Amino acid sequence: MTTGATGAVGDRLLTVEEARDAVLAAIAGPTEPEIAYLSEARGRILAEDVMSLTALPPWDNSAMDGYAIRAGDVATATDADPVRLEVVGEVRAGWAPDRQVELTTPADAAGARIGERGRDAVGPLPAAVLVHEAVRAGTAIRKAGDDLPEAIAILAAGTRLGPAAIALAAGSGNESVSVHRRPRVGILATGDEVRAPGRPLGPAGIPDANGPGLAALAEEAGGHPMTLGIAADRLEDLRARLKAGLSGDLDMIVVSGGVSVGPYDVVRAAFAEVGRMELWRVAVQPGKPFAFGVADRPGGGRTLLFGLPGNPVSSFVTFELFVRPAIRRLAGLAPGRLVRAPDRAVLVEPASKSPGRRAFLRVVAERDEAGGPVRDAEGRVRVRLAGGGRGQGSHVLSALALAEALAIVPETVDSLPAGAPVELWWLDRD
Ligand code: AMP
Ligand code: MG
Repeated sequence: MTTGATGAVGDRLLTVEEARDAVLAAIAGPTEPEIAYLSEARGRILAEDVMSLTALPPWDNSAMDGYAIRAGDVATATDADPVRLEVVGEVRAGWAPDRQVELTTPADAAGARIGERGRDAVGPLPAAVLVHEAVRAGTAIRKAGDDLPEAIAILAAGTRLGPAAIALAAGSGNESVSVHRRPRVGILATGDEVRAPGRPLGPAGIPDANGPGLAALAEEAGGHPMTLGIAADRLEDLRARLKAGLSGDLDMIVVSGGVSVGPYDVVRAAFAEVGRMELWRVAVQPGKPFAFGVADRPGGGRTLLFGLPGNPVSSFVTFELFVRPAIRRLAGLAPGRLVRAPDRAVLVEPASKSPGRRAFLRVVAERDEAGGPVRDAEGRVRVRLAGGGRGQGSHVLSALALAEALAIVPETVDSLPAGAPVELWWLDRD
């Protein structure tokens, strides 16, 4: 597919898939591996399999506090006629005495009872015990390697390290693991009206929502965000900040604002100056003016250049569709794991959208008394528009913040009646 700098194929807007495929095709593969201590590894993607450095458990061990005995010695033991065994030693795990106490009574060397049956396994070690029951050999022993053998792959390359995976790696003797470097993501807001946090707004300023929002999204996707500040709507300023990002060996730069067709929308021209434009304009709502380019870095390697529309909801949705998959791919996830797994839903109220574009509506789920999402008889989640019908504007941050999921409405649909089925992407699920 050749799109050229105007992006559209002929006059047709690109589909979401065409644009995402073009973005992913510009990524050669995950970032290089590095060694990370387990304390730093949560959320990272394994570059190599993790091996068990020890069997787990490492040796046969006791499943409970008590006495280690030979089954043959107590074969005749009964409640009325217990077997007396001499206590020959003590094996401590930490400070706890290791005695199976429920079926025994402490005794002196001659076998006289000196305490109560089944009493607590604390206090001085008795000289002998009376055993009241026969036991089978092997009872209450955890065998070495019962959980895991030594020297096998316990976590595969491509796995994302959650808490249980970290416990497993540590529990089998690993101190560190080989993971892909977190992709470095430059975040650049643009707009003469956009003000850094805490700066006075003056008569025509607005606070920068996209800079902090996109940095948070980048981090959640597995990237390492770095701010490039707020550029004025001037080609020279934008170019200088992009060049600073390229010199800083960023894997990608995410610019918000300035990608439309106005005289001050200079982002595409700046991309073309520091690298080249790959595509522009996608059949999506919100987010149509999305732009993508690539640039070679002076220090070697390539930087992906994303131009997201300035309206905060548009920048959020286009990040979700195009930037998040790119970060996840660079971070080491397999190509099949880059976008969210879809759920099924019904939109319980009517909605309208632009014809010919795929809409990503911001929605909330109905909840039952236990807090779980309500599903209909066919298992579809019942969802409503976040912030009501007026919450769907591409500038409405309050509704975006309420949204739990995106409901996807195909290009071919112009309006939805109440109760229409939709595909759902939960924003808190992979
Ligand atoms: P643009 O895409 O530059 O035409 O911006 C579209 C709208 O988004 C305008 O109303 C901008 O003021 C607004 N906008 C652009 N950048 C930001 C930002 N960083 N934070 C909040 N709003 C923004
Ligand atoms: Mg602007």
